[in-house]
Formats: sequence, structure tokens, C-alpha cells
Amino acid sequence: MQIGAHALVFTGIFDENGLKKAISKTQAAGFDLIEIPLMNPASFDGMLAASLLKEYDLSVTASLGLSDSTDLTNSNPAIVAAGEAMLADCLRILHTMGGTRLCGVIYSAMKKYVEPITAEGRKCSAAALHRLSALAADLGIHLSLEVVNRYETNLMNTAREALRFLDEIDSPNISVHLDTYHMNIEESDMFSPVLDVADRLGYVHIGESHRGYLGSGTVDFSSFFRALARIKYDGPIVFESFSSAVVNAELSRSLGIWRNLWDDSDDLAAHANTFIRSQLRAVETIVLH
Ligand code: MN
Repeated sequence: MQIGAHALVFTGIFDENGLKKAISKTQAAGFDLIEIPLMNPASFDGMLAASLLKEYDLSVTASLGLSDSTDLTNSNPAIVAAGEAMLADCLRILHTMGGTRLCGVIYSAMKKYVEPITAEGRKCSAAALHRLSALAADLGIHLSLEVVNRYETNLMNTAREALRFLDEIDSPNISVHLDTYHMNIEESDMFSPVLDVADRLGYVHIGESHRGYLGSGTVDFSSFFRALARIKYDGPIVFESFSSAVVNAELSRSLGIWRNLWDDSDDLAAHANTFIRSQLRAVETIVLH
């Protein structure tokens, strides 16, 4: 099992300085991997990232949220084609970096929709993801679809809805990505959804209810980690936190990051690394009881 941090904990700019900062500080905080957002794949230097990851001996995953111009649920085929092309670029960049997992809101735009999803939109996204998962498999990459709250997509907001959508996509190379921040808004509790998803859980984000320091909000982490232990989850677990102290304009606006919840990335990250590993160690001993 690998424990990681989202790069936005450290920087919102992914040029050489930004990449070096995020990768070196993720490693220094004690994590095994870094999740890099590929919001702008056209301007991202995968070769440079690959060499820095090697230098700091860190694993990598990538994530993104689609936008209006790349929305796979759009009724305009040109927009869907643009989304597929962008995701294909992300797969190639991730492959260059040596990563094997792409996750996030890669099935619709990441935004507040003002209408429910249409049957046609679902079908269109499922078909595109079916094709992309085959391309991903050729590159040795696995896809995970992040379940997010109602203000960030209209396609699926709960783990059970995600399972239904996975059935529609019908690909062995796609799994569910759960995030405690979103679960805390939409799910009935933090335990049963993990058991429902079980071996179709492929990726986990650990975020607090306000996206700040773990343990300072209302997320029931105790139940969540017990559920992970119960299903013997061993995929990536990545800490995600956002503050206006570190800003990526595009992502911060779509996620509504308007205030400072922390101002010291290094302390936040080291605290999260310890918090996650302590929870995992505790639940690991439950089998001895
Ligand atoms: Mn997340």
C-alpha cells in the first residue's frame, strides 16, 4: 500500500521549480507517492517530472477534472472528442512519468451542473471511457473514477451510483475512486459504501470536511479506515487538501477554495502522513482481536 500527497499541497504551478518543490517536499514529508494534477497536459513536461521522480525515489499517479470544453457527457461530439484526446494525452504523460494510475473526475466536467444528467450523456461518457480504458490498458495504466459531491458533477455522487456507472462502462480496467471529503457530504455513513464497492475500489483520497488539517473537521475517519481494513484495501491512499495559501487558479475556482485553512504546507503534509499511517496501523491490529 502506498501513501501519497496531492501536489497542490505544495504548489499550483507545474513548471520546473514547481515540480521540484512538490516532489522534493512530498518525499521530505514521508510519503511514498505524489499525485500530480494534469489540468494542462499540453504544457506539462513529463520527461522532466520523470527524472525528478527518479531523483527523489517517489511513485506517481495523475488526476484531473474535465471542463466544459472536454466534457465527455456533452451532446456535441466535437467536445467529447476533445475530452478523449486530452485524456489520451494525460495517459501518455503518465506513462512517460512511470505512473500506472489515472483518477479524478474524468467522466464529466468538474463543475456545478444546473440540469440532471441525460441518458444520452451517460451513454456517451461510458462509451468514451470504454475506449480510453483499452488505450490505458495498452500503456499498463488503470483508471479510477472519483465519486464527487453534487456541486461538482451530475453523473454520480455516491459509491453505489458509481458501481452502476462502472457496469455501464463494462471494462475490467476501471475502478471506483472514493474521497472522504465527498463521502462526508453525500453518503449515509463512512463504512458501508466502502464495503459496497469492495474489490472495485481502486483509489482513495483522504480529505477533511473543510479540506484542511486531518482531524480538525467532521469526517468520521475511524469508520472509514476500519472499512478499508475490512475489505483488505491495498491501493493508493492520497492526502488531498487545498488552501488559498497555495493556488492553482483553475482548480481553486472550480473547487471553491476561497480561504486559508493552513499556511504551512510542510507541517500540514507531515501531519497528514503521520495521521494516515497511524490510522492504518491501528486498524491493522483489528484482525488480532
Ligand atoms: Mn478528491
